[in-house]
Amino acid sequence: MWILDDSAATPFWRPRTPRPGTVLLFTTRRGGTSRAPYDTLNLGRSTEDDPAFVLANRERLLLAAGLDPARLATAGQVHGTRVVEVEGPGHHADCDALVTRVPGVTLAVTTADCMSLLYSAPGVVAACHSGWRGTVDGMPAATLEAVCRLAGCAPDAVHVAIGPAIRGCCYEVGEEVASRFPAAAVRRTGVKPHLDLPTAARLALEAAGVAPNALHDTGACTACEAHHYFSHRRDHGLTGRHWGVAALIEAPGAGGGE
Ligand SMILES: [Zn+2]
Repeated sequence: MWILDDSAATPFWRPRTPRPGTVLLFTTRRGGTSRAPYDTLNLGRSTEDDPAFVLANRERLLLAAGLDPARLATAGQVHGTRVVEVEGPGHHADCDALVTRVPGVTLAVTTADCMSLLYSAPGVVAACHSGWRGTVDGMPAATLEAVCRLAGCAPDAVHVAIGPAIRGCCYEVGEEVASRFPAAAVRRTGVKPHLDLPTAARLALEAAGVAPNALHDTGACTACEAHHYFSHRRDHGLTGRHWGVAALIEAPGAGGGE
């Protein structure tokens, strides 16, 4: 079960009971320094926001979560299905998911309607960006496979969390997109079909062997909840970006520390 601590200076979603040795979180738009329309916790460098604000926001968030801003790994996010194994900080242009077994490295994926998915297995974490295209092409299961390979575990040992994303209530799509998804992921109550990416991800992950009770959905819709979230669709592209963050924590005295 995931919770949003609304009383924190920089609120973020986190597991109520995290797996020991892991930090997983999804940010909201709140608790940062950026001005409108990026107010306030804009973490995206691809926006027109002042880069100094973005940098300050990233630092504020990571420090609030107890993570080292100097050991950040990010993905280029090209709406593909490539997963990259990360062993240190840096930017990986041609991929949509990052996986690591190295404690102290912080994985972050950026979204403002697309899903971010966070994975944890014994000794391994991953962060994945999956919009409609990535979801059709199998990104959620591709990341699961990478996690299992690296952890040497079965899919039923993996926990997956689904972050704030645009959902079936708000995500109007064309028939050419809707027809590529299972019927259960499409709402057909209005004039145009509405796509629910989290349902599509859940179906794909359960089919790949993730236990239903190991799938944790924040249930948050970025487009509905303007007070909490940026939404590319709602804000016509002029908006900030959230992060999904995953890291293994360095055990005290494990070497390489202070
Ligand atoms: Zn909505």
